[in-house]
Amino acid sequence: MRQVAVDTWAEHAHLLNPGGQYASGRAANAVLAQARETVAEILGADPVEVIFTASGTEADNVALRGFAGEPGARVISTPIEHPAVRETVANLGKRGATVAMLPVGEDGVVDITDELDEPASVMTCMWANNETGAIQPVAEIVARANGVGTPVHVDAVQVVGHLPVDFHALGATTLAASAHKFGGPRGAGILLAKRSPVPTPVLTGGGQQRGIRPGTVDVATAAATAAALKEAAGEMDAEAARLTQLRDELVDGILSTIPDTRATVLGREGVDVLPGHAHLLFPGANGDAMIMLLDSFGIEASTGSACNNGVNQRSHVLEAMGLPDDHVDGALRFTLGRTTTDEDVQFLLGRLPEVIGKARDVAKL
Ligand code: PLP
Repeated sequence: MRQVAVDTWAEHAHLLNPGGQYASGRAANAVLAQARETVAEILGADPVEVIFTASGTEADNVALRGFAGEPGARVISTPIEHPAVRETVANLGKRGATVAMLPVGEDGVVDITDELDEPASVMTCMWANNETGAIQPVAEIVARANGVGTPVHVDAVQVVGHLPVDFHALGATTLAASAHKFGGPRGAGILLAKRSPVPTPVLTGGGQQRGIRPGTVDVATAAATAAALKEAAGEMDAEAARLTQLRDELVDGILSTIPDTRATVLGREGVDVLPGHAHLLFPGANGDAMIMLLDSFGIEASTGSACNNGVNQRSHVLEAMGLPDDHVDGALRFTLGRTTTDEDVQFLLGRLPEVIGKARDVAKL
């Protein structure tokens, strides 16, 4: 958590229920309204469109189940979504929805097909992939789906706080973010939801937050989320440039010192990648060995999605991209962030050749 988020949380932790009409309630509500305004301004939304949730996962669920929870619904998605969307779409399918998928290329980017021209209950696509960092053509997807009246949910968890977001200009119906991705508290998410169409509430209760996400709002967490987002937005351009430079130095260093290695999507024609993402393929290396050897040096990296509950699973993203098995098994993702320094990159570059050599030996056993 950014220090500003810690301080803001502590400052407001004593506030009472923002739904109260008495003085303490009004005081809490004023802080909440300010948090909503800050988030709305930074993300190009109206304050009324800002819904605070308990995670990015919850924001994705509220939108998707709210648009496609009824049997007979039609959902369009992609094979590279984070489990928060992937498992939700699979569950909607089990409950009677028809599910269609847009294909993804070997470059990690979703192809736009005429599947989008047939109206659906919802189309859902991530803005940037959490594993490869590949940025997806969400603006084109929104325009095409909206053209036939299909609401579009954008999972922008990897993008908010890192790249500019303008909800109104994008035209999406709903958009999900997660506070811990930009230095806010863990267990805090944001759902931007247009005035219409509105997802049918998944939870029922006291009608807070337009009834879309009822329940007493945690004002301190909302304020800390807004404070973190404001600081992240203020440093966004400089930080993106700094991380891009560090990331490129890392990837160039790896490609020039470790044989038979490739960057998964970086450098491919027409593919934009998140500034802090370095995703590499070391064919013939054992994934678990790479992670454990790096961990022994204090270097924290992942093979699949770090969110898969601590279990190293084969990446469904790389499989969907059609990569051969030995490439999928030897995939490694480094994520650079605001605390990453040039010394960190040099430290990693100094140790990685040995790690990959050993992990390739392990795979031969
Ligand atoms: N969507 C994407 C693309 C993510 O990367 C993540 C988390 O890493 C999520 C959704 C889930 O967010 P949360 O961890 O806040 O539930």
